[in-house]
Amino acid sequence: MASSNAIMDDLSGTNLKDYAHYINGAFAAPVNGDYFNTENPTTGKPWARVARGTKVDVDLAVDSAKRALPAWAAMTPSKRGYLLYALADQIEKNASYLAKIEVCDNGKLYAEMFSQMGYIAKWYRYYGGLADKIEGAVLPTDKSNIFNFIRYEPLGVIGMITPWNSPLLLLTWKLAPALAAGNVAVIKPSEFASISTLEFIKLFCKSGFPAGVVNAVTGTGLEAGKPLVDNEYVAKIAFTGSNLSGQKIYESAARSIKHVCLELGGKSPNIVFADANLDAAVMGVISGIFGASGQTCIAGSRLLLESSIYGVFMKKLLAVASAAKIGNPMEKDTDVGPIATRPQFDKVLEYIAIAKKEGATCVLGGGPYTGPGATSDLFVQPSIFTNVTNDMRIAREEVFGPLLAVISFDDEDEAYSIANDTAFGLGAGIWTSDIRKAIDGSAKIEAGTVWVNTYRALSYTSPFGGYKRSGIGREGGAEAIKEYLQTKSVWICTDPTVDNPFIMR
Ligand code: NAD
Repeated sequence: MASSNAIMDDLSGTNLKDYAHYINGAFAAPVNGDYFNTENPTTGKPWARVARGTKVDVDLAVDSAKRALPAWAAMTPSKRGYLLYALADQIEKNASYLAKIEVCDNGKLYAEMFSQMGYIAKWYRYYGGLADKIEGAVLPTDKSNIFNFIRYEPLGVIGMITPWNSPLLLLTWKLAPALAAGNVAVIKPSEFASISTLEFIKLFCKSGFPAGVVNAVTGTGLEAGKPLVDNEYVAKIAFTGSNLSGQKIYESAARSIKHVCLELGGKSPNIVFADANLDAAVMGVISGIFGASGQTCIAGSRLLLESSIYGVFMKKLLAVASAAKIGNPMEKDTDVGPIATRPQFDKVLEYIAIAKKEGATCVLGGGPYTGPGATSDLFVQPSIFTNVTNDMRIAREEVFGPLLAVISFDDEDEAYSIANDTAFGLGAGIWTSDIRKAIDGSAKIEAGTVWVNTYRALSYTSPFGGYKRSGIGREGGAEAIKEYLQTKSVWICTDPTVDNPFIMR
């Protein structure tokens, strides 16, 4: 892999390297020869060129996966597990390099990306360990002379479509269980952050994976993503991205009755009760909305604040939020980096304008950031709006940026009623020192993940996914491996005489 210095050159936009698709264990130029520039948000300049794939490239990648499937699915589960362990070792060895690539791709903090690489390695080890623990069952029936058992089999070729905000982590949530279960993959990363996937995919070859087990085609959602969803041979689409794309993918996948896992957006409430440890809650609220510049699906973008502590809490929150250091995501002391893409930057500013127009009060930020540390024109000030009501667009629609909407409530019933008055249900935070409130609240909130006195905590051991429009299916935890398996019921008769063939046995 390239040296760190080369990456630092890339950060300054001086190297424009071409990145091709990865098909059947090798890089493959796009059939039509087209590439497009990809921008580094820290510099605001292009830093590489990415293959602009179309249906013909996707079909080649699916064919490659299809050819690799029988041998991969037939490999002993322990051997598949060992390969995933070897991959985890490679990830750890190359963690710094991969983290730097992620920063070039999406402008997230190097410190966060580096720590994600450590997690990613553990994710592969966890599912590597599960590869030889996929156990069927022998079932009792009320029929004589019958031996009925269940076996789990891989689905086949899995299409994995990922967003730009944490490309390798979100890919890993799909790839680790899918490979452990004996499936093969064709990946379509975001057109805004494709390169980390193409650098990462080299590690499969180094770890000893057979060619064709993991393939990647780059390009736009419509030109490369849709043909993957439409391909007859793809058995399942594992998707992370926006609700709009998720809906379209769900519709297309229905035509060929594909399995889907959809990890979509959120409008997560972070509820602070008066009895909470307020200093800890301030940190949780900041982490929920200004971590990763608010560009996370689990962003705690609605702060629900008990009215009796409104003044004191807002004072503490503003003190910490206004001290956040904005700047180059590669620097150790930076708290808030740029917005990852130009369309996303425009979208965040549009929502700031909407919030002002709807009558919310801007108490922090409220525009682009051009002060000290801004290395490009893609920075937005961490922004807080008060006097928000839950019917305003900034309380209902996902912004995916550093924009916090503050809503006050008077009691628990009102807090949960506002929290659940949303189309989404991905995450939620509750801050309280009362164990009864913690337990009641975690049951009442309609979301796939509820954090009490913490926020943004995730693990490979625990399931993650959405209620309502935040998605279908779960990633993470032992159960997630079943999302990549199909169940076969086998009936063996030890006495094949049939009394009456016209009556069901
Ligand atoms: P996006 O939906 O614009 O794009 C995601 C991917 O889908 C990209 O690779 C894109 O090319 C592809 N795509 C788009 N339209 C397609 C189509 N019709 N057919 C096939 N592929 C298509 O999302 P984004 O802007 O890259 O990412 C941000 C979104 O992702 C936010 O809404 C965020 O909440 C969501 N997200 C969800 C989770 C989760 O786990 N629930 C995690 C991270 C991000």
